[in-house]
Amino acid sequence: MAEEPDDRFKAIIVNMILDSQPEAALEALSRRYRVDTPRLGVGVFKRHSKGVRAVYAPDRKEILAAKREFLYDPFVILHEFYHHIRSAGGKHRGTEKNADRFAVEYIRAFNRVVALLGESNKHD
Ligand SMILES: [Zn+2]
Repeated sequence: MAEEPDDRFKAIIVNMILDSQPEAALEALSRRYRVDTPRLGVGVFKRHSKGVRAVYAPDRKEILAAKREFLYDPFVILHEFYHHIRSAGGKHRGTEKNADRFAVEYIRAFNRVVALLGESNKHD
C-alpha cells in the first residue's frame, strides 16, 4: 500500500463526500492507493441484517448503499472503500474494526484541518 496520506488529503476527501461528490472522492482515493475505482450504487442487498448502511461487493468491485443519503456519509464511504483496497481476487478482506479505524482516521483529520482553519480565521 502507498504511504499514509496527510491530513490535508484526508480532509479534502471527507469534504468531497460531504459535498455530495462521493464518486470524485472515490476516484481520488483510488489514485492515491493505486487501485481501480470502485463502482458506487444504491440498491437492495440481503446480506447482513437491517441497520446495515452499505456493503462492498468484491466480485463487482462495487460499494452498494442501502439509501442514497448514505452515499454522502464519509464514514460509510470510507469504511467500504477500505474493504475495496483490502480485497484481492474477489475475496472479502480486512476486518470491520480496521475498516472503522480507517474511516475514523479520515474524519479526525478532517476535523483537525477544520479546527486549524477556524483558528486562522479568528479576528482580534
Ligand atoms: Zn464493513
